[in-house]
Amino acid sequence: MKNFLTVAAMLVSTFMALPNTITAQNNSNIYELLNAKEGEYFADRDSAYLDPYYGLKKLIYGNNRFADNKSIRPRQTDADLKNNELGQKPFATIIGCADSRVPNEIIFDQGVGDLFITRTAGQVMAEASYGTIEYATVVLNTKLIVVLGHESCGAVGAAMKLPENPPGHVVTLINAIKPAALFANEADLEEKEELDLAVRQNVIEQVKLLRGLEPVMSRKFASGETLIVGAVYNLKTGRVEFIEETIMSLPKFAKK
Ligand SMILES: [Zn+2]
Repeated sequence: MKNFLTVAAMLVSTFMALPNTITAQNNSNIYELLNAKEGEYFADRDSAYLDPYYGLKKLIYGNNRFADNKSIRPRQTDADLKNNELGQKPFATIIGCADSRVPNEIIFDQGVGDLFITRTAGQVMAEASYGTIEYATVVLNTKLIVVLGHESCGAVGAAMKLPENPPGHVVTLINAIKPAALFANEADLEEKEELDLAVRQNVIEQVKLLRGLEPVMSRKFASGETLIVGAVYNLKTGRVEFIEETIMSLPKFAKK
């Protein structure tokens, strides 16, 4: 009996240890990717354009500069503007909310020509947004896409109330955010936590939608050529938090 228990325990620990080891390794890689060391604030622009994982790092560094009151406001001098006629090579596409408190270039401390951006309330996407994102991916070769939600999003807040007859075209926004709103409603939390959860879930749904979007984005994502991740911006601290769930499922980490 004792032997049987020992063997059983060994088997259990073997099975348990395997996924744990992998998770630990992935976690350290993810941690390395998402956390800048103290005093690390800068990333090369050309490398960020070529390597989307490095591009992610560049956004993190830029946001740290902004949140730590160390913004350098790069690439916006007269000389920089003169280079514009040579074309554009934005290293990231941002799908953000139209909210005036989330100015993308400022919160990531980036300059002219760095970010390709579509903004709608609740960063809801429709046909024209898909075309815009595909244009950045296929024509401009931008390899990093960030869906950026934010704390206290009015559009998500409105969807949480599940209005029967929203005015005019607002119905498009409400319908798109509804699955995340229902998800959060079910969690039975305090109002603020419920809204936070809906904001996060809305971003996760939008990341999933883009990763599966035929005919362009689904292939670009599956091949690992384009990264599509989600993040939430905190209005009070100025910090962008990348959602780990959307990082762990990237090809680089998911394969292991
Ligand atoms: Zn918003």
